[in-house]
Amino acid sequence: MRKSVVAIVGRPNVGKSTIFNRLVGDRISIVEDTPGVTRDRIYAQAEWLTTLFNVIDTGGIELGDEPLLVQMRAQAQVAIDEADVIIFMVNGRDGITGADEEVAKLLFKSNKPVVLAVNKVDNPEMREDIYEFYSLGFGEPFPISGTHGLGLGDLLDEVVHHFPEREVVEEDDDTIRFSLIGRPNVGKSSLVNSLLGQERVIVSEIAGTTRDAIDTPFQKDDQDFVIIDTAGMRKRGKVYEATERYSIMRALKAIERSDVVLALIDAETGIQEQDKKIAGYAHEAGKAVIIVVNKWDTVKSEEKTMKEYEDKVRSNFRYLDYAPIVFLSAKTKKRIHTLIPKVLEASENHAKRVQTNVLNEVIMDALAMNPSPSIKGQKLKIFYAAQVAVKPPSFVVFVNQPELMHFTYQRFLENRIREAFGFEGTPIKIFARKRS
Ligand code: GDP
Ligand code: GDP
Repeated sequence: MRKSVVAIVGRPNVGKSTIFNRLVGDRISIVEDTPGVTRDRIYAQAEWLTTLFNVIDTGGIELGDEPLLVQMRAQAQVAIDEADVIIFMVNGRDGITGADEEVAKLLFKSNKPVVLAVNKVDNPEMREDIYEFYSLGFGEPFPISGTHGLGLGDLLDEVVHHFPEREVVEEDDDTIRFSLIGRPNVGKSSLVNSLLGQERVIVSEIAGTTRDAIDTPFQKDDQDFVIIDTAGMRKRGKVYEATERYSIMRALKAIERSDVVLALIDAETGIQEQDKKIAGYAHEAGKAVIIVVNKWDTVKSEEKTMKEYEDKVRSNFRYLDYAPIVFLSAKTKKRIHTLIPKVLEASENHAKRVQTNVLNEVIMDALAMNPSPSIKGQKLKIFYAAQVAVKPPSFVVFVNQPELMHFTYQRFLENRIREAFGFEGTPIKIFARKRS
């Protein structure tokens, strides 16, 4: 199910990034620091009470040297296009400025719900001064202080109140949804076309739940698939579409709705920094991942080159060691038949549940093989393990002291679990918890 999207809009320095960071909190930084994975803090998940949503900090969308007004228009446009609810932020210390009025005009025309936040209201006395902001025409202004974290609860209550009702998607339908991500020109559109050309397309181009992707269902050997295609929707001709961050944002939305993500690499141009960054998003989102080396027709293919290339991919994408690598050519369709079976397998592994007793046998065998480490004379004791979630498979290991679970030992347990159950294509998560 798609999460609601909130965008924070306003002129520079009103405190958008400060609030964004507060909303997002340490959600991003709690992710282990994986080499090769860079985070873009422009779009991230946040939570209020029990509601999960995504936030866009439009202040992070920079358009080179464009004048301020052009930048603000572009940012407002991103918000209007992408968000379900817009937080319009002004500075309570400055009063209403001309730039605020410009933003207000754009938002007004959009028909999106707008919640007005007056920031930098750092103490209660200053609340008296916010009434002038009624004249912007967005109803009650909500006083907040980004630095002190004040007023955010009331603001978020109002924001969440405007979230659209989502129709419940059949959660347990066994359709496999996958998307293709990669730099421009790696061959995403070509691969979509080749796949759909080959399989029988039941209904073509059903509009997606969002405007930034086309969902195309197809069937193969009685299995239903949906391709979430963002590539075909490019070039709507707006100024911000040219920005890299915008395409990342779109890729992130597609990833979120996917079970399996195909991370494409162009064999002709080789692996580039941007490839690692983009693939990193799929990894961080906990999706099943397949690395697709496209344009294999341009490489003189002998077995040896494939092995060499595989080593190169592995050393560049170390954090994706679970992802199978598929070599193919979207253009000549060579080896393209190898892809869908991998998608199916990765998806099954992503949703796999293992038996608790077997899991515990595996853990105990692992302990016997490689006794748990001691740190400063204290030894890690493992009592019991359980799988607590799927998509991706997540395990809790109950221990005497979680701090004693060193990263390398956790890695060792992960490898044992992988060997025992075969989780190819999917990340798995292991959490150490103190037995209470
Ligand atoms: P943005 O350009 O809208 O993203 O604004 P920033 O989040 O970068 O904030 C601009 C400046 O305002 C920074 O120096 C912040 O520390 C400051 N600031 C943000 N929120 C508050 C607040 O609630 N009170 C005060 N006094 N300063 C704030
Ligand atoms: P996208 O931007 O990722 O959607 O990439 P496109 O599908 O538009 O492809 C970019 C270019 O690469 C086009 O000129 C394609 O014809 C070419 N291309 C795509 N796949 C292959 C392939 O497997 N082999 C070769 N030689 N060219 C390809």
